[in-house]
Amino acid sequence: MNARKIYPLIVVLITLSVVGILFIQMSWINNAIKLKHEEFQRSVDNVLKQTRETVFGKYLTKQTNYILDEDSRRFYLANHFTIEGSFTKDEITEIIRRELKNSNIKQSSFEYCITNIYKNVILHSDHFTAADMEGAYRVELAPEDSYRARETLFLSIREDKNLIIREMGWMIVASIVFTTIIVLAFAVTVRTLFNQKKLSEIKSDFINNMTHELKTPLATISLAIDALTNEKVIHDTDKIKIYSGMIKEENKRMNKQVEKILQAARLEKEEIKLTLQKLDAHQVISKVAHNMALQIQEKNGSIDLRLAATDAVVEADEVHFSNIIFNLLDNAMKYSTEAPKIVVETLKHGNGMLTIKVKDNGIGMDRETQARIFEKFYRAHTGNIHNVKGFGLGLSYVKAIVEAHDGRIKVESAPGKGSTFTITLPGGIR
Ligand code: ADP
Repeated sequence: MNARKIYPLIVVLITLSVVGILFIQMSWINNAIKLKHEEFQRSVDNVLKQTRETVFGKYLTKQTNYILDEDSRRFYLANHFTIEGSFTKDEITEIIRRELKNSNIKQSSFEYCITNIYKNVILHSDHFTAADMEGAYRVELAPEDSYRARETLFLSIREDKNLIIREMGWMIVASIVFTTIIVLAFAVTVRTLFNQKKLSEIKSDFINNMTHELKTPLATISLAIDALTNEKVIHDTDKIKIYSGMIKEENKRMNKQVEKILQAARLEKEEIKLTLQKLDAHQVISKVAHNMALQIQEKNGSIDLRLAATDAVVEADEVHFSNIIFNLLDNAMKYSTEAPKIVVETLKHGNGMLTIKVKDNGIGMDRETQARIFEKFYRAHTGNIHNVKGFGLGLSYVKAIVEAHDGRIKVESAPGKGSTFTITLPGGIR
């Protein structure tokens, strides 16, 4: 199975596992809460049974002075036992409270009532209301085989849900923490995976581009050399000049490409060594524009220098500074389908910063492309751009150099509407 298929499969499998683990954890926690609830119910039932036994015991000690055996005890209770008139409200409250304490039920508030066979309330706690009957625990206050009127004790005691959550808190917190770690680790892994994939695509794109860029001049040089060795040409000095000029031109082009790659490699190692000097930015811009004038003319384009800054002195590295202006102008020229109309503007700010704007009327770019053009190797993969050759290194270099000069760069653009690159650099006095 190749990587293309394996990545989505891994993502799906891990997502399913994480969802599965989450589901299992939730049902475990749910089950644990249910078990706690059942345990609480059992304890309360137990408390009621104990209360009944204690009430019986107390009743017998109140009514008879002698010790009865089990049978006569039951017989006596079955025939005589009644709460009515034998116990006060406070006595019952005290018995229930003690039994709750014995059963370790950490519950301070409860309400109760006792009804007779006609369902009339014969005894109740201070704040007992009819609503408390709902969901109340109950026990009949009579021995199993009693044929006397049965009385029933209703105990209303609310389970403290927070208590359950507090008791299970560590479990819930731990499972949330671990699950979050798993999800985060998963997200990071997936991101790394996709980044790696993107990187390998970018690398193979780059190698293709580079091969192409170097092969074309090599082929031209080879043809020119063939021509030079041709019998007819060898004695024609004009032709020799043309062909050797071609070889020189192509050689220059190749050199430029290699230089670009070397620039990128140097940036990778963060080896930007600037030789700072006071430069007149206008002079540099004019020089670069002049050097490019011929190429722009060939495309029937124009370059308009509106160098309005009152003081254009910057402290910069001359070579790098010329390179960044060249790269911006080169792109402005490359990424236009019609005759390129390039405008370069400068502006001096009150705080000493110098702004240089390079505007074009080219193909422009969408927001997504704008966000990525400063990444190394990034090239927009749309429409006509395929026809334009490049390594996707130019703007990453420009940005690195601008930032090394403590400057900033930004782009404004819209598809079909051209682009404007704005560089802001600190002025000469720093
Ligand atoms: P390269 O030009 O070698 O591809 P760059 O880093 O100079 O590399 O540019 C990166 C990408 O940004 C280009 O491939 C192109 O898609 C886009 N781009 C750069 N400048 C412009 C511009 N002036 N107009 C439109 N798109 C541009």
